[in-house]
Amino acid sequence: MTPTNGPGCIQLAGRTVQLAWLREHSTQAAPLFARARAEVGHARCLCRRPALRLVIRCTRAGRYHVAGWPGEGEQHDPTCPFHKLGPGLSGRDRYSTQAIRETDHGVSIRLATPLTSTLAQPATHDAAPEETGDDAGSRRSVGLLGLLHWLWEQARLNVSHPQTGRLTWRTCHARLRQQLRETTINGHGMDEALYVVPPFTHAAADANTAALDAFRARLGRHGTTERRALILGQIKEVAPTPHGVAYRLAHQRTPLYARSALHARAIRSYRHAFGKTAAGHGATRVALFVVERSPKGHLIAVDLAAMLTTAAYIPADSSYEVVMADALAACRRAFIKPLRYDTADAVLPDFVLTDMTPAAYVEVYGIHGREAYDRRKTEKREFYQRQGGQLIEWDVAQPLPALTRSGQHGSRPNA
Ligand SMILES: [Zn+2]
Repeated sequence: MTPTNGPGCIQLAGRTVQLAWLREHSTQAAPLFARARAEVGHARCLCRRPALRLVIRCTRAGRYHVAGWPGEGEQHDPTCPFHKLGPGLSGRDRYSTQAIRETDHGVSIRLATPLTSTLAQPATHDAAPEETGDDAGSRRSVGLLGLLHWLWEQARLNVSHPQTGRLTWRTCHARLRQQLRETTINGHGMDEALYVVPPFTHAAADANTAALDAFRARLGRHGTTERRALILGQIKEVAPTPHGVAYRLAHQRTPLYARSALHARAIRSYRHAFGKTAAGHGATRVALFVVERSPKGHLIAVDLAAMLTTAAYIPADSSYEVVMADALAACRRAFIKPLRYDTADAVLPDFVLTDMTPAAYVEVYGIHGREAYDRRKTEKREFYQRQGGQLIEWDVAQPLPALTRSGQHGSRPNA
């Protein structure tokens, strides 16, 4: 029997339904959604009592879905799909409503990289703006890393909880696809503009090939429009080619080709993702590529953003953070990895422990004696004092600190 309250249960026009059911049967549930929107104005999340409001949205294609009420994410139970960290704990705060706009139809994103260009008038692009930098602390468009982090956060792939267990690529794929259906990017449906590499199975191999072919057919020149798109996958290997490199992705036979200059820049910009030390800890790297189709039909990466993650796809800013995330998971702690998006200097905790009230923070200190780093450390300690939460610190020159919850038995994991 399915529970009638708790995380994952939604009240819609007086009826209690499971969120998972709603997402799978949105067409069947359309009359219920329409009634709830007309008569109540919102849905209710039953993870807490009293219940919390949820926004009902309907995409332009007529697909209904529910979303968290703006500014109330923190009030949901940490295991609830609508739970979010409070203000100041995500790089998301740095964007203006021009960059990420939440409407009655869903979320609309303005990506800094144009995805179409008009051949007749080379100067005109789609919704992409001329500038991507800060404007009074508020960005007007989203960069590639920002988009990757936004997707990860929306799909709750930066959340580790003992009840959920380890995330697999199958889960990542399913949750990301769900998010894409509810989002537009530079005015295009994100479900069409972004291809998430599906998990490989022999049974699905033909369907996956057909999906990639259909995606590839949308790229390139169509009339006077040149189209690009995005691919999200896990980099398995970077192999040299006569003109640059080939990115071989997990679960996909077709590689993405790139020029040496792009790969050299990627290594500089995403040092930890491409570093060698993390591989020793079973870490992986997830990348978001801007792709074009070559005249011969190859997929060419013209830009990319990459992030290091644990084997369970929890993002990490260094190999030490991979060790810490794995150790926290081994101690059955519930935690969230805050994501900085496009803001390199954001002051965010390395991890937030959500199984304590108030939430506790985890900091990993890897570098000594650099003035900028020490200043940042001081800034962070002040931040935690303001938040009032417990701080667990790990200086990587020392063994890992005790990570089990106080009162909970268990030993320190061997990392
Ligand atoms: Zn909730």
